[in-house]
Amino acid sequence: MKAISGNGVVTRFAPSPTGRLHLGHAFSAIRAHDAARTRGGRFLLRIEDIDGTRSRPEHVETILADLAWLGLDWDGEVLFQSHRLDVYAAALETLKARRLVYPCFCTRADIAREVAASVAAPHGVDGPIYPGTCRHLSDAERAARRSEPHALRLDIARACAVAGPLGWYDERAGAQVADPAAQGDVVLARKDAPASYHLAVTIDDAAQGVTHVVRGKDLFAATHVHRLLQALLGLPTPVYHHHALLTDATGARLAKRSGAPTLAERRLAGEDGRALAESLRRGDVPES
Ligand code: GLU
Repeated sequence: MKAISGNGVVTRFAPSPTGRLHLGHAFSAIRAHDAARTRGGRFLLRIEDIDGTRSRPEHVETILADLAWLGLDWDGEVLFQSHRLDVYAAALETLKARRLVYPCFCTRADIAREVAASVAAPHGVDGPIYPGTCRHLSDAERAARRSEPHALRLDIARACAVAGPLGWYDERAGAQVADPAAQGDVVLARKDAPASYHLAVTIDDAAQGVTHVVRGKDLFAATHVHRLLQALLGLPTPVYHHHALLTDATGARLAKRSGAPTLAERRLAGEDGRALAESLRRGDVPES
């Protein structure tokens, strides 16, 4: 593991309040919390609620109660992404001015059709790689369709050319050469949300002074995109730690929809949250 200087460490837990937390979230929160606390550092909480159609205030209340039940405390105020839309919009304007993003008018069905018709349909962290349809629109076509609902996509080839070669460091996987192009032209602003996960998370990790991003390895590929966005927006690059994911008895990943009881259900049933946290620390639940 890379040597880490004492109390300058800042980590965060950044749940999306689109449902209740499950055991995998508890594991991730504990990892991030302990990574800070064992080094005398700070642990922050950020609520990733930019998805106005799926985020619910009642889930925020439940998340706070679940974390307290697990014995996890955070430093300072909770940061809500929904309060920071102007910051994301300003970043998008700078990328627009540099012609690094373009409007995408495709519907999900349009993209699915294109992908189905192509011989190779590679997948990235957000699903099938966008086939690039709207990248080829002329300025005149874009201007004519300006009032239609559209997303903003990063022109990944252009962005990579501007940024040049990039790398990042993962405490588990070691030194990485960034390969954002493999993710295709990712969405930075959605039709129904003014910023995407990739944009908001990158900006906020920098804004909160996060030095160590501790999160599940399901987000490993996304880090390549985040590294590119850091370069484009002039933001610092934290150290990453993509931890293993919990699995069930059959070795399958414990996911939200697996039917396992949520943390809230366990809490309300009277289970001891601190004891559960200790058992996750001891590794009583298998990981992979
Ligand atoms: N909000 C994301 C989620 O709940 C996690 C973001 C991150 O840790 O980078 O999956």
